[in-house]
Amino acid sequence: MESTASADLPALLKSRFGYDRFRPHQAEIIDAVLRGKDCLVILPTGGGKSLCFQIPALRLPGITVVISPLISLMKDQVDALKANGVAAEFLNSSLSSGEQERIEAAARRGELKLLYLAPERLAVTRFKEFLLSLTVSLIAVDEAHCISEWGHDFRPEYRNLRSLREAFPSVPCIALTATATEKVREDIVTQLHLKDAARFVASFDRPNLRYHVAPKRHAFELLLSTLRKYAGQSAIVYCMTRKGTEDLAADLVAEGIAALPYHAGLESALRQETQNKFIRDEISVVAATIAFGMGIDKPDVRAVIHYDLPKNIEGYYQETGRAGRDGLPADCILLFAAGDAILHRHFIEKIDNEDERERSLGKLEAMLAYAEKRSCRRKMLLAYFGEQYENMPCSGCDHCLRAPELIDATTVAQKILSAVIRTGERFGAAHIIDVLRGQPSKRSRELGHDTLSVFGVAKEFGQEELRDFIGSLIEREMLAKADGQYPVLEVTAAGKELLRSRTAIRLPKPAIDATIARRDEPLELAYEKELFEQLRTVRREIARNENVAAFVVFPDRTLMEMAYVLPQSRESFGRISGVSEMKIRSYGDAFMTAITAYAKEHHLPERRLATDATVRRRRSVRSVLRPDSTYDETKRLVQSRLSLAEIAKRRNLSPGTVVQHIEKLIAADVLLDIDHLKPSPEAVDEIRRAFQSSEDGRLGPVFDQLEGRRTFEELRLVRIFMQREKK
Ligand code: ADP
Ligand code: ZN
Repeated sequence: MESTASADLPALLKSRFGYDRFRPHQAEIIDAVLRGKDCLVILPTGGGKSLCFQIPALRLPGITVVISPLISLMKDQVDALKANGVAAEFLNSSLSSGEQERIEAAARRGELKLLYLAPERLAVTRFKEFLLSLTVSLIAVDEAHCISEWGHDFRPEYRNLRSLREAFPSVPCIALTATATEKVREDIVTQLHLKDAARFVASFDRPNLRYHVAPKRHAFELLLSTLRKYAGQSAIVYCMTRKGTEDLAADLVAEGIAALPYHAGLESALRQETQNKFIRDEISVVAATIAFGMGIDKPDVRAVIHYDLPKNIEGYYQETGRAGRDGLPADCILLFAAGDAILHRHFIEKIDNEDERERSLGKLEAMLAYAEKRSCRRKMLLAYFGEQYENMPCSGCDHCLRAPELIDATTVAQKILSAVIRTGERFGAAHIIDVLRGQPSKRSRELGHDTLSVFGVAKEFGQEELRDFIGSLIEREMLAKADGQYPVLEVTAAGKELLRSRTAIRLPKPAIDATIARRDEPLELAYEKELFEQLRTVRREIARNENVAAFVVFPDRTLMEMAYVLPQSRESFGRISGVSEMKIRSYGDAFMTAITAYAKEHHLPERRLATDATVRRRRSVRSVLRPDSTYDETKRLVQSRLSLAEIAKRRNLSPGTVVQHIEKLIAADVLLDIDHLKPSPEAVDEIRRAFQSSEDGRLGPVFDQLEGRRTFEELRLVRIFMQREKK
């Protein structure tokens, strides 16, 4: 049911904010707020929390008071609102007393719709009196986890909010956060006295983020290639030490990349300046410690790269969460060397409180497990936050993107398992690898391990390859990491059985190169790259003149749409997503001048925007459907009902490639009768069961489970039939 207050919200969304549709949950949340309910809103970063109170603020009769912990964020949010013609202001210590008085007077006259406040104000009696003189319609508490001691960012000033609630007992309150834990959620409800609150909890999955882990050996080259791929767009590189950030920024500058360091040891004026340059697109990369980010709300960060291992998954999720808030694809890359954990352990061991020490150690282990994971990383991240992810393969992690090539690893597995047993199951991976590679070390000599028969039996493998095999053996539960202070390796019962029976085992081929797996680049608009750059320059100029963040003018996504559609009239300009009525007036001319000149020079007409889905499909389908394509040839042979072997022979292709063609044709919606290619009923049954019991539907594990009784081609064909049944 739609309440009258919620009527025509989509029109308001477009005219004031320029957006065409609500993101998941936004419409329900706004509706609940307008019905006067207290709300607890838990949406991931980039989920669009701000609109959940900004739109109600426009509809409600009085003023909406917004509590926000960070001065820099307040300014950006208020700038963004003003750019859309919304009457909003903030009050915090960065303003002169003259400015404060002007804003307070405007609020008293009822001229403001939103007023952002720092929580420390609430403790001042005079200020409370000022608030009581206003008609407050809604209280919004942003970053609400700051009120909880259980959270990662407790701020005592947030406790002042209780008195605000007491001063306005009948005014509804909306509390918003991206923090996931149950304990913090409950604490927010209690501390803020939320009554019978409507709760909205979204999935923590960020589908547009791609997660990768790469070995650290070629860290800098990898970093450069990633940054070059995003030519001049924004990225954050996190380093563990202050010196690390400075060295890295200098190295990047030497490569011609506009980068600056950021850490808590720099003067606050300099930090502020760096932050401003970043949000105004005057530099593209910040090399930072984790001190950087809380105050940054930049929507178009295309990559977050961790040069060193973070100390827990909470931090990692939060830091990577700063990428891709605009919903466009972004990369989260962790550069990993096993040695990184040592420094963290060293610090953790110095923690006095035993509980805390244990907890930190446990969290570090989980982080390491993430880095060493041999299956979907997204699934693991979400599982860590208590969410089950079933949509395999995922929307992008190095494992799901790279179909792992399996190799016969029987011999090396035997060697690894024997080495673990011969050394008494008392050592971690590093020592086992040394033994296998026959590294002469003091430790080996003292322990007499250099005289064992397994010493040096796997010399042909590099350290990282062996580490990779060990990871895979842990994943297959042939090896286990013992609980306890040190990650000691043990051989499981299944491992002992493998050793005894000498059964063949196939494991993923170790990924030892520093390349990053990619599926085809996400298919986006084929916008005019050169024009996009010109529009970014126009934006940079405006941002500088108006002293606002670049995204306050327009986000990247909006510029890309402009560079595709080439709008040259106010009407078509206004149809672009992200263009509000106010922005047509204030920025329309500046951008349309650039667009018109470009369109004229290149003889390009205005284009229409197809929906995202059609664009994507059309692109991937185009090559498959070309009449003279290799796919088309396969299609004709399938239609003449030849067998797989026959088609492969005639086309001089492997049966695997033929099946790949069939998969592509079907994905492109070509009507193709393939019933004659169906494997025998027994095979179909067996394969179907194996897929159903598999964790993620990947071919490799299913193939292994069937112990080679069925070919990969059979598996893929059955998978096609299963998918068809689902539809
Ligand atoms: P959060 O506070 O949850 O991290 P924000 O409120 O800052 O998220 O929103 C993230 C980005 O998404 C902002 O650039 C915002 O303008 C944009 N956004 C929010 N809602 C929508 C929408 N319905 N359509 C398009 N963009 C949106
Ligand atoms: Zn995945």
